[in-house]
Amino acid sequence: CASLWHAVASWTWDAQDETCGICRMAFDGCCPDCKLSGDDCPLIWSACNHAFYLQCILKWVSSQSSQAHCPMCRREWQFKE
Ligand SMILES: [Zn+2]
Ligand SMILES: [Zn+2]
Ligand SMILES: [Zn+2]
Repeated sequence: CASLWHAVASWTWDAQDETCGICRMAFDGCCPDCKLSGDDCPLIWSACNHAFYLQCILKWVSSQSSQAHCPMCRREWQFKE
């Protein structure tokens, strides 16, 4: 059913503002690698306006064998200027 799919897709789009697109952790906490208190766990944005924890996207980019793509929308990965 196409209309149901669109409803789910738009909900996912809205939710990506509040959770990391890689680890799905909420942005009011920190990424899974930073459970220790005092860790600095900044958020970064891609050129395509998707937000991730910095450490998550650094791991993601280094895990890609060639050009990395945004985990959310598959555009070519670029940090937002
Ligand atoms: Zn993450
Ligand atoms: Zn972290
Ligand atoms: Zn994206």
